[in-house]
Amino acid sequence: HVSVVLFTADLRLHDHPPLRAALASADAVVPLFVRDRGVEAAGFAAPNRRAFLDDCLADLDAGLRKRGGRLVVRSGDLVEEVCRVATETGADSVHMAADGSAFATRRERRLRTALERSGRWLVVHDAVTVVVPPGLVTPAASDHYAVFTPYHRQWARVPLRQVYGAPRTVPVPEEARGEPLPAHRGTDGTSPGLPPGGETRARAALTAYGRHGLDSYDTTHDDLSADATSRLSAHLHFGTLSPVEVVHRARRHGGPGAEAFVRQLAWRDFHRQVLAARPAAAHADYRTRHDRWRTEDTASGDIDAWREGRTGYPVVDAAMRQLRHEGWMHNRARLLTASFLTKSLYVDWRIGAAHFLHWLVDGDLANNQLNWQWMAGTGNDTRPNRVLNPVTQARKYDPRGAYVRRWVPELAELEAPLVHVPWRLPEADRAGLGYPAPVVDLADGLGRFRRARGTRP
Ligand code: FAD
Repeated sequence: HVSVVLFTADLRLHDHPPLRAALASADAVVPLFVRDRGVEAAGFAAPNRRAFLDDCLADLDAGLRKRGGRLVVRSGDLVEEVCRVATETGADSVHMAADGSAFATRRERRLRTALERSGRWLVVHDAVTVVVPPGLVTPAASDHYAVFTPYHRQWARVPLRQVYGAPRTVPVPEEARGEPLPAHRGTDGTSPGLPPGGETRARAALTAYGRHGLDSYDTTHDDLSADATSRLSAHLHFGTLSPVEVVHRARRHGGPGAEAFVRQLAWRDFHRQVLAARPAAAHADYRTRHDRWRTEDTASGDIDAWREGRTGYPVVDAAMRQLRHEGWMHNRARLLTASFLTKSLYVDWRIGAAHFLHWLVDGDLANNQLNWQWMAGTGNDTRPNRVLNPVTQARKYDPRGAYVRRWVPELAELEAPLVHVPWRLPEADRAGLGYPAPVVDLADGLGRFRRARGTRP
């Protein structure tokens, strides 16, 4: 008999429980990916992620072809397409990864009902796109953890399932028909420095990081110019890497670097379990409501300066330019640019989150919105009024100014500490740089923030 294996955010052949289960019980499988109209309509298919997805699909198809199979790609409504493919190939079952987001849960429910109507069944597999599924660990009196530290304590105790290798052969029935894959990745509106995607590259990147980066992760991960984090986020987002396998490998590697790295992966699951329990947190304040934000109506000039990397604060501008150029930004830079927008400019976090989601190749509703809420003080930060001063942050995390000089060519001739405070240059020198004056006086910004929050003036 035949099973459909529906690929979603798990575009790989290694450590893939749905594929493994289908192959164990069926004579042939249909590896299917649906370009879901619903995902496109929700605006998730931004150019960077669409281009990266094309790479992932091409690589998955190549991997399947090496094993005697191929990838079937269809476009349309996911539920309708899966049912159609099941009918065309005579499949009696569909295997897929659990997701947990509100959108995917609704879709899964619809799919189950539609399949059951024609006597087919749906098997949903846990721990494919996350290490610990949402809802598996909960505190005594709630359906999710609102604070990271106790969550992490429980998360770290959950036994990991075993890791599976890639299958040797994948027999695909003749009748399985899909649309041709694009010959090249689309480049319209993408970042010039966008990295390539796909499982082959993801696995090479994981191995390389294990050899050359992991041991120093705990000491270098916040250093902006060292750029010493794993850059595995997009691979994890598209599931070309299995988070369970990544944790296994890091734990086997051992040491303080690996331990700090695994802790970051727990943040990924943490945000998912929050959003699974509180789907409204994708758009509404999670804990503390604030309604005095400045928005496009009142702060459009400041917002544009932030988006375009011309706020006059060099480290903020470097980060915002990196985002556009690479479709990625260093975590420390994400924190300080989010703090700058929400706390120094007092602009609604949703405006910043939308800009990030447009550009980030790892752009992910749970991680992005909830990290934004964390920094805006509406989410799960236990110190919601913390403000990251961009000058202090720059001195600490880019002490020699190399990060700023890399992304802000106007300041390439300046040394630290001046490179972080170009407004201190004599007026004549400053005018020659072609670099803007600060859009806000930090003390004024802090005053506005404190008045709006009703905290100490
Ligand atoms: P590493 O430092 O090498 O970390 C390893 C992995 O752990 C990452 O690949 C990621 O999967 C996970 N991780 C690390 N930090 C976090 C975190 N704070 N929250 C959740 N997971 C984490 N991450 C996304 O994947 N998608 C997003 O859309 C996203 N938006 C963010 C928005 C803001 C405002 C902030 C402050 C952070 C955001 N992050 C997001 C988290 C983090 O910045 C990125 O995961 C990280 O920078 C990716 O680079 P890396 O792979 O080199 O990370």
